[in-house]
Parts: sequence; structure tokens; C-alpha cells
Amino acid sequence: MTGQQGSTAVAEPPPPLTVHVTPGPAREDWCPTCKAWTRLLGDILLLTPDGVSVVGTWTACEICDDPSEEAGRG
Ligand SMILES: [Zn+2]
Repeated sequence: MTGQQGSTAVAEPPPPLTVHVTPGPAREDWCPTCKAWTRLLGDILLLTPDGVSVVGTWTACEICDDPSEEAGRG
């Protein structure tokens, strides 16, 4: 007996969560800044093995969120 006790118990990593976050279908939304229907709004869907759940909403205005507009500002 050497008294050596090798710890062979390796902690197994948790199983990978197979979840996917995907934007839902976009629909037109009113942009209060542009005062026009230039904004897109959609649900943020979380796909899990248990099903689909809405975790939030996303909005994007083609006018307000135009990156080229922000570059020339100043
Ligand atoms: Zn806008």
C-alpha cells in the first residue's frame, strides 16, 4: 500500500444548453422620433428544449439606426 489515493473523480461539465436566441418576424412599428412607420419591431425568441419563450423585444429604425448618419455627426 502506498497510501496514494488518486482522485479519479473528474467533475463532469454540465451538459451544454441547447438554446437559441433568434429574432422573431418583424412588423412595422411607429417611430416617435421620425413620426413615421419606419421602425421595425419584433420579439426576441428563446428556443429551448422545453419550447419557445419570448424574452424581449427588439426594435430597429431604418432612419434612427442608420450608422452613416451617426458618422457624419458633429
Ligand atoms: Zn426613427
